[in-house]
Amino acid sequence: MSATGTVRPCAARDIGTWDLTADVVVAGYGVAGAAAAVEAATEGAEVLVLERAGGWGGAAALAGGFIYLGGGTALQKACGFDDSPEAMSAFLMAAMGPGADAAKISAYCEGSVAHFDWLVECGVPFKPVFYGEPAWEPAADEGLMYSGGENAHPFDEIAQPAPRGHLPQMSDKRTGERGGGYMLMKPLVETAERLGVKARYDTRVEQLVVEQDGRVCGVVARTYGQRVTVRARRGVVLASGSFTYNEDMLAAHAPLLLDRPGSAVEEHDGLAVRLAQALGAGIAHMDACEVAIHMDPQYLIRGIVVNDRGQRFINEDTYPGRIGQAALYKQENQTFLVLDEEGFEQARKASAAPEILQLQPKWVCESAAELASEMGLPPGALEATLEVYNRHAEGGQDPLLHKASRWVRPLRGPLGAVDLRGMTSGFALGGLTTSTDSEVLHVNGEPIPGLFAAGRATAGIAAWGYASGASLGDGSFFGRRAGRSAARA
Ligand SMILES: Cc1cc2nc3c(=O)[nH]c(=O)nc-3n(C[C@H](O)[C@H](O)[C@H](O)COP(=O)(O)OP(=O)(O)OC[C@H]3O[C@@H](n4cnc5c(N)ncnc54)[C@H](O)[C@@H]3O)c2cc1C
Repeated sequence: MSATGTVRPCAARDIGTWDLTADVVVAGYGVAGAAAAVEAATEGAEVLVLERAGGWGGAAALAGGFIYLGGGTALQKACGFDDSPEAMSAFLMAAMGPGADAAKISAYCEGSVAHFDWLVECGVPFKPVFYGEPAWEPAADEGLMYSGGENAHPFDEIAQPAPRGHLPQMSDKRTGERGGGYMLMKPLVETAERLGVKARYDTRVEQLVVEQDGRVCGVVARTYGQRVTVRARRGVVLASGSFTYNEDMLAAHAPLLLDRPGSAVEEHDGLAVRLAQALGAGIAHMDACEVAIHMDPQYLIRGIVVNDRGQRFINEDTYPGRIGQAALYKQENQTFLVLDEEGFEQARKASAAPEILQLQPKWVCESAAELASEMGLPPGALEATLEVYNRHAEGGQDPLLHKASRWVRPLRGPLGAVDLRGMTSGFALGGLTTSTDSEVLHVNGEPIPGLFAAGRATAGIAAWGYASGASLGDGSFFGRRAGRSAARA
């Protein structure tokens, strides 16, 4: 979808009569909007959420449900893991960068235990069971998993590893339809409703309304073709998601994501970013993307991932999203998975992933030379890679890329190769610059009065890298702060 319509603000003096009024007006009823609404209402504000779709949920309700939390949450403790805000912060600063926002990460890690407790108080259920298999998601409703490569090179040496992917318990989850994120959203929305939050669906925020002194004091929305003016006595919270489905913005900022949007919804059209930019708001990390590689880690970890020069480029036991980012950003999306029959059989037996993530080998050959030739790789390149890998694998070592010895084993023919070329998709991580209190910041660094934002409309804790749960995590965490700041404005 391309950008349409004006993004220029509307002057308050041109409004005449307001159709609706609330203390805090929230644009978007996904995770950041729900968290903002609950917190603003808790502060005693009258809250109105305007949601473009026919119901609450956004991308969050479809999500797998990972919420990146740590520092010693009750769930981590119940599963037998020690963690500290310092270890969590050291990991995030290394894994979310370069350019990770130290102030945001520090606030996030310091507040993580309390944020988990708040989610539980809101009724979000977590099953105290750890899932230790390589996977994109747990097989069933387990509550805790490594979700960022914390226990793999190089992060296992940077910070004490701890699993921090917290998952709401949901039976029969179907990520992409009604995922674990649904069991995050449902209790949050129910909590908001109990606190008196009102919502209007099929109502798309299209413009910000600004007083003469620059304060944002409302929005203009559209519902079934009708213009609706909504006054915000205290503040407006933008929580309407990323720019993943805005082709113009992708072309300008994150062109590698063009034609491969994933883990987002079409309503993520970047409007919030553009509305605030029109008021002078700053933006950050607009080129950063979450990138999923469409293959079950049970297979990736047992093989070697190579580029179109037959070379390995990453330890295959790391977070699969890191493999996806490296493939898309650094290997031009030209990658293959090479594994032997034993590895393939082991992975098939261990895998709990849907079939779509269990890609079959496109080529199977007796020797590495034959396989390389079939794959169209430069003669000798894959053979050299396998010779080095296997030589060290005899001793359970991977001195080149440091895959953990548990997963290192010589690969013996017959060999198969899965074609991973182009098998990535993702969503944009960049957005509005905000303070740790979720105020939208002008390019001069000062807050724009009356305007707050959270979720993927903002640049959050992930600046280039990513860990599963960083979006529902920072969306809910800084969404609460947006609601609180708006209510107190
Ligand atoms: C299949 C899938 C799996 C995922 N798995 C995970 C995971 O496990 N962990 C994780 O952290 N993230 C995951 N994500 C990503 C995560 O869901 C999103 O990044 C996150 O929900 C962003 O939060 P948000 O509040 O910014 O946006 P959303 O939750 O999408 O909410 C934005 C809302 O704003 C509405 N909206 C848009 N424009 C307007 C407008 N102009 N006016 C009014 N309303 C508007 C949208 O309709 C939407 O309801 C996944 C996403 C998908 C789709």
